[in-house]
Amino acid sequence: MSGSLHCGIVLDMKKIIVLMGGQGVGKGTFARMLCETHPFKHIETGALLRESAKTNTKIADIMARGELVPEEDLLSLVSENINTDQDIILDGFPRTTEQAKWLVNNYADKADIHVIYLDVPEETMIQRIQKRIREGGGRADDANIDTIKRRLNIFWTVTIPAINWLKNVPNIKFSDVDVKGDVNDNITMIIKALEDK
Ligand code: AMP
Repeated sequence: MSGSLHCGIVLDMKKIIVLMGGQGVGKGTFARMLCETHPFKHIETGALLRESAKTNTKIADIMARGELVPEEDLLSLVSENINTDQDIILDGFPRTTEQAKWLVNNYADKADIHVIYLDVPEETMIQRIQKRIREGGGRADDANIDTIKRRLNIFWTVTIPAINWLKNVPNIKFSDVDVKGDVNDNITMIIKALEDK
């Protein structure tokens, strides 16, 4: 793990693992599996926002339409929850290039950032969202086909450019992991990617 030099003492930096990928790819599932192997703090922006949406109709409406919540709401939510005294998994953040730049500008010197791009084709995302619906996840933004299409479109047009930007940042780690297959094989590959770099 990388360290930084303070007054002659080498301090280990905490890790920020960033799980990025399209809707339904399994970010939450993989985050929970990683939490079973190590005491990470799991910061899931979608879950935090679903909680805010219970009392904030503006956020509830944006989420129900499948659109992105405005940057200022996101950045204050994440800064309230992020704390580089412990290892963290970010799940659902960043989703835009502005959020990615904010993360790198504020945290690349304080933590060892490793971005894992959970790479699957769109048809796999759709199959996994359908499975989540069949299993009764009950998410308002899974209930409507137009909302699902809007979220997928935002992924390709807004989040993929953020992923491509992060790929070229020199002081963070980046791994592209193909997670089309079985969940146990996928988590093994994710753990290997985290250990290899
Ligand atoms: P998720 O559970 O990650 O699929 O997120 C559900 C919804 O929360 C998204 O469709 C967005 O409306 C909102 N959301 C979650 N994370 C972000 C983010 N990083 N930026 C903007 N909106 C977000």
